[in-house]
Amino acid sequence: MRVYTDERMLLHDAGAAQPERPARLKCMLDRLQSEPLPGVQLHGTRLAEWAEIERVHDADYVQKIQSLSGQVASLDWDTNIAEHSVPAARLAAGAGLEAVDAILSGEILRAFAWVRPPGHHAERDRAMGYCIFNNIAIAAEHALQHDDIERVLIVDWDVHHGNGTAHIFDERADVLVFNCHQSPLYPGTGRADERGSGPGEGFTINVPLAAGCGDQEYEAAFLEHLLPAAAAFRPQLVLISAGFDAHERDPLGSMQVTDAGFARLAGLVLDIANQHAQGRVLAMLEGGYDLEGLAGGVWATMGVLREG
Ligand SMILES: [Zn+2]
Repeated sequence: MRVYTDERMLLHDAGAAQPERPARLKCMLDRLQSEPLPGVQLHGTRLAEWAEIERVHDADYVQKIQSLSGQVASLDWDTNIAEHSVPAARLAAGAGLEAVDAILSGEILRAFAWVRPPGHHAERDRAMGYCIFNNIAIAAEHALQHDDIERVLIVDWDVHHGNGTAHIFDERADVLVFNCHQSPLYPGTGRADERGSGPGEGFTINVPLAAGCGDQEYEAAFLEHLLPAAAAFRPQLVLISAGFDAHERDPLGSMQVTDAGFARLAGLVLDIANQHAQGRVLAMLEGGYDLEGLAGGVWATMGVLREG
């Protein structure tokens, strides 16, 4: 499998007080250098074009971010941009675009985009929760531009509800969005009765879990709620909003998922992909704020998703 990343994303530094900090990516790059994983190659990314971002975000919002390039600004109470943040956000989105193209052309089967800023809280019209552009939604829309892709599954196992992704695809039947998250917790959305609207009704699945849940509860949630829905939906591509803040070490979440637990979740997602999507999986990094927990979860996931 390929890891799509770019050291220019290390330059996005929204302030020393931010848990979403450059060291998150740096620790993984350092670890890959000291402990190479067989079958895993690093690959660069590219700047997403503004038009590609506008498939998901309102033009007014995209223009606002474009105009802030090179500047320092506060977008919401916990989302700041600094001098190099806008190119970093375009590279993060671009990693998904590059990976989707490589997967759908048959060049590779699976990829992990090591990106920051993360994306799943970003709404159509605003930044939120450290997220500027919704990377996974942009990747899903890009996949759906390909002639032979009509159904994409997004599995979001970040400890926080991926509100942006859920709202962007709320009325859509071609993107099944599965969210398993701690509740109550930021951002407060993602109740079990939020199931999508209009033609998208039934294509949004939320499994809120109480604080303190671990490997067993997550596995049960996937077995009970994700597997039957995926079998009915038959996705042709599977995307993972891979956050690792449900890790037992994480300071923001209160869950108890272990490295082995993340490997199990990745295995269940891979089973779905093998059954319906020719094994095609793209994971994109979301949260995860303890460096050891983050790298542990990422390595466990890659151990399952890598080929050979
Ligand atoms: Zn999170």
